[in-house]
Amino acid sequence: MPEIAYLCRPMQLRDLTDIHTHHPGRPDALLSLPPSPAVFRYAAPFSLELHPWHVAADAVALAHQLDEFRCAADALRGNPNLLAIGECGLDNHCGVPLDRQTEAFRCALAVARRLDLPVVIHCVGYWAEMLRCVADANLKRDVIIHGFRKGPQLARQLLDAGLSIALGEKFNPDVARIIPSDRLFFETDESETDVLSIREKILNLRDSAQK
Ligand SMILES: [Zn+2]
Repeated sequence: MPEIAYLCRPMQLRDLTDIHTHHPGRPDALLSLPPSPAVFRYAAPFSLELHPWHVAADAVALAHQLDEFRCAADALRGNPNLLAIGECGLDNHCGVPLDRQTEAFRCALAVARRLDLPVVIHCVGYWAEMLRCVADANLKRDVIIHGFRKGPQLARQLLDAGLSIALGEKFNPDVARIIPSDRLFFETDESETDVLSIREKILNLRDSAQK
């Protein structure tokens, strides 16, 4: 019976209006949480974070960190509140060496592939390197660049590579107009602004571009 199958369908990232926030307790939002005992007690949608800023620069410490990440992800497998992996990614404005960041990012992508989950990506500067890692990971679910503030040229490259884009409080209006509806997401990240007003602003811009 299709109706019952639909009612029983577990929640997915695409059901949420706000696909990336760091504010706990917000309704209709995906909270980004690093592995910790608190993750296992969290009773609302979340993503498992491996932020490039917090990647260990020391090889031994990194191996331990990635083990912990994989173990937490495996222990959370089947948890209906775990809806994505991330934020994870690459950032050329932080002090962590690129090879360490890349190792952590590839680990997070492999976990997403294994658990069949979407990915929320943080990328600053290292766009080509990020795209290479994503292409190598051969992911089957949504791969979303979060907090995108760059221009339409880079946005088109990401879209051409099959990625989706999440816009937050600050974004380029020309980018808001070119993202296909099924690959456009909204987020609050660190912002105090309500996601509904962020979404309304973006959708109004798109409407006015069509007139
Ligand atoms: Zn964030």
